[in-house]
Amino acid sequence: MTSTSSVRVRFAPSPTGYFHLGGARTALYNYLFARHEGGKFILRVEDTDRTRYHPEAIPDLLSSLRWLGIWWDEGPEIGGSYGPYYQSDRLALYQEYAQQLIDKGLAYRCYCSAARLASLREGQRGQGGAAGYDRHCRHLTAGQIADYEAQGIRPVVRLAVPLEGETSFDDLLRGRITVQNEQLDDLVLLKSDGFPTYHLAVVVDDHSMAITHVIRGDEWLSSTPKHVLMYDAFGWEMPVHAHLPVILDPSGKGKLSKRKKKTADGQELLTYIHEFRDEGYLPEALFNFLALVGWSYDAEREFFGRDELIRLFDLSRVSKSPGAFSYDKLEYMNGSYIRSLGQNDLAGRLLPLLKADGIDADFDSVLAFVPHIQERLKVLTDAAEWIDFAYVEEIDYDPQELLQKKLTPAHASTLLAACAAALAVLAPFGEGEIEAALRGLAETSGLKAREFFGAVRVAVTGKRVAPPLFGALAILGQQRSVARLREAVRRLEALL
Ligand code: GLU
Repeated sequence: MTSTSSVRVRFAPSPTGYFHLGGARTALYNYLFARHEGGKFILRVEDTDRTRYHPEAIPDLLSSLRWLGIWWDEGPEIGGSYGPYYQSDRLALYQEYAQQLIDKGLAYRCYCSAARLASLREGQRGQGGAAGYDRHCRHLTAGQIADYEAQGIRPVVRLAVPLEGETSFDDLLRGRITVQNEQLDDLVLLKSDGFPTYHLAVVVDDHSMAITHVIRGDEWLSSTPKHVLMYDAFGWEMPVHAHLPVILDPSGKGKLSKRKKKTADGQELLTYIHEFRDEGYLPEALFNFLALVGWSYDAEREFFGRDELIRLFDLSRVSKSPGAFSYDKLEYMNGSYIRSLGQNDLAGRLLPLLKADGIDADFDSVLAFVPHIQERLKVLTDAAEWIDFAYVEEIDYDPQELLQKKLTPAHASTLLAACAAALAVLAPFGEGEIEAALRGLAETSGLKAREFFGAVRVAVTGKRVAPPLFGALAILGQQRSVARLREAVRRLEALL
């Protein structure tokens, strides 16, 4: 590890939709590799396909990466000396390089109409033979070209792929990959509107941004031989390539979808990073968990802090086979991260989510609840269910809920009235004092303590499951606790 390393990697998403788990894993591995090597992590937005452009994708990408703590050294909103970092701002560069290949005789303008290409495909389908462009325009005469130009036809630019031989490269994870050139099409580099295709833009940018390692998803593996030919055509050295295995869904049978999917019991699986944030996952838990989807340090260890991951991450430990994404394991890991947070930290993280849930909570009371609920949270959003009773004017419950087992309405009414009376004069209204008072009443109630406290719990929280009772009452405060007990007595009248 050296700070003078010239390792430069990039994450190069296309803004076609919300930022999802697969993209985040690729970004994370690039980030960890760059940090481990003391190199640079570049963010580049590949936005040349205007038909698939999604306006919310970029803000969603940037905020999600920041939330996860995958910070880029060069890219949008930061800049850098290899910019611009949006491909749509680099069109002139791609046009220039396409022309360079034409001048070298390694690319050519193609004037074939969409109709001709369609009928070509149709014919090929019928014959079941080789598919692809028939290279009709590869050897046009100057006269033919002038003719097409005079007709005002705007050409595309295609790569003149060698007709024979083979193309190989060494993938860092997959080993040597070889394809026969005759299987490769004369791919389009520049479209007729002057926009580059992905292939041209990615090669030009990886070269001109001095990228040393291309770490990306497996779905790009079949494109790489084309890129090898382009690097050759330009006379450029090719970066090292590593294609990461896909992520499988929890069943391990299919690919994890970028879109919404449902489990067998109809639950929606989260896929977008902003959903994990909104559902109360901690960024450090997702960061840790994602690192393990396709990488492992050893057979046992699962919990790694950011700095440890940076120190230990190594592409040689990336798995060659796909791994399944286990939501259960992520939830378990998240719960564990929540339990390890300091109380102030946890309260600070809960507050905005509670507010987003429509709960008008304040920091101090949430902080007071934290010791009572921290152990119980798997995700931060679980907290609302536990403590919302403290932030409403009135709680809503069925008075039958007050009647546990043998308890009659009349008996319950007497007991809750006694509680109200005892708590009303308690000073100070602290957890210890409340416990002493209520335990005293429980003993003389003729009920089991659990039954007695169960009725009090429903009276003050409206729920059978709530944070530990004495603490909850203390936080709720004397006035409201007493008022709720009296209200329970009033509700019981209907059952007498
Ligand atoms: N723009 C491509 C994508 O959206 C990037 C592929 C690559 O990393 O080369 O995934």
